[in-house]
Amino acid sequence: MSAVSEMNAPLPWQEPLWRELLARARDNRLPHALLFNGGQGVGKATLARQLVYSLLCQSPSAEGAPCGQCRGCNLLAAGNHPDLMWVEPEEPGKAIPVDRIRAVGGFLALKGQYSGRQIIVIDPAEAMNRFAANSLLKNLEEPTDDALLILITSRPSLLLPTIRSRCQQVMFPRPDAALAARWLQQQLGDDADTATLLALTDGSPLEAQRLHQEGGLALRRELMESWLHVVGGRGDPLKCASAWAELGLPKATRWLSSWTMDLVRLKSGAPEDAISNSDLLPQLQKLVTGLELKRLFAHLEQVTECARWASGQLNAQLAMEDLMISWSRKR
Ligand SMILES: [Zn+2]
Repeated sequence: MSAVSEMNAPLPWQEPLWRELLARARDNRLPHALLFNGGQGVGKATLARQLVYSLLCQSPSAEGAPCGQCRGCNLLAAGNHPDLMWVEPEEPGKAIPVDRIRAVGGFLALKGQYSGRQIIVIDPAEAMNRFAANSLLKNLEEPTDDALLILITSRPSLLLPTIRSRCQQVMFPRPDAALAARWLQQQLGDDADTATLLALTDGSPLEAQRLHQEGGLALRRELMESWLHVVGGRGDPLKCASAWAELGLPKATRWLSSWTMDLVRLKSGAPEDAISNSDLLPQLQKLVTGLELKRLFAHLEQVTECARWASGQLNAQLAMEDLMISWSRKR
């Protein structure tokens, strides 16, 4: 959890949302359960954390910023506030098992110890397995007066409808492109290729920031080289597939589909500024001359199909092998 001092101002594109939540909290108009719903990397968890800090601080500022001094703030900074339960999978991409959610019941039985309020955050909510989700439903059916549950999701369709209907939805819009670019530039400095980072992450500033911090652009170039070798008939598709599989299916399919879409655009005569991967334009332009549109559409379909199952049980290695083998064929 971030330091309390970082909690002072909301992300610029979240200011209206923040003011609204703050006003509702002050007038005691927050419901028992909120569903924070919006795309990956738009800052849902950041705002949830901000709300938690503001609610558990004993003397927040007029803008809702925590004081950083009180007992509540100190407990939050130490990561052991007894009135907060933040539930996440043990590893990203793993399920939240039922015993983690059963513990919510035990937590609620304790009642608020310092603040008179209890907050449970589940992030991401769709990571709850079926048993966990059913267990949570019991808590939602018998809400405790001073408890606030915040569910965070970018894939609400994967939640039980009965859970969704018991939560009040808070929609997180995608940030305005200019605002996102300005913020990212401020975070990363002038040298960073913010345009490419944002294009690769569907305009999600936090995800773009993460990609930069992980050295994602260098890795992407490396993977592109290996993919180009396969497409040119000079690389081993299985070896290439292993490298891609390490990236994880969601990201791998997103990158591959973004390139394939760019190839389709180039083949159809789209202008250069319509290309998402503008930093890879020379490589894509060279490649596209030898490819037929029909074949590109077939690849696009294959990678889209693969992306559809990316968060499920699909084996990343096998899926990437399939894709790379079909790219390695001459037609
Ligand atoms: Zn405080």
